Amino acid sequence: MPNLASWSRGRHAAGVLSVEEQIELEIRARGELERLREEATSEEVDPQAVAVDVAIGRLSRLDSMQMEEVRKDAVRRRNQRIHELQETLRKMDEGNYGICEGCGGWIDYARLEQCPEAALCGDCAR
Ligand SMILES: [Zn+2]
Repeated sequence: MPNLASWSRGRHAAGVLSVEEQIELEIRARGELERLREEATSEEVDPQAVAVDVAIGRLSRLDSMQMEEVRKDAVRRRNQRIHELQETLRKMDEGNYGICEGCGGWIDYARLEQCPEAALCGDCAR
């Protein structure tokens, strides 16, 4: 847990997150990271998922290849989010959280609430 006193110091400009908002977002980011890690772990130890497809044999080779691509894509996206959430927590520790990497301005709380790992403000993300 970062030092809240130093964390909030010097943040009085418009758009600055309150300490309560920062805590709320950190809880969300940690919860989401935890969930994704559990999801990743449960899939890794589940070779049956593949075995069942082979045993049923109803899927054409193409279908199963497409499904494999879809699955790989989902894994890639999840790993990407895990990485972003880890970055987010690191920024929170360092006190740089909520600052847009594009323009250096503050990212809206509403946006961070939707997506705590957002690294860009609404304008820069467009
Ligand atoms: Zn920006």
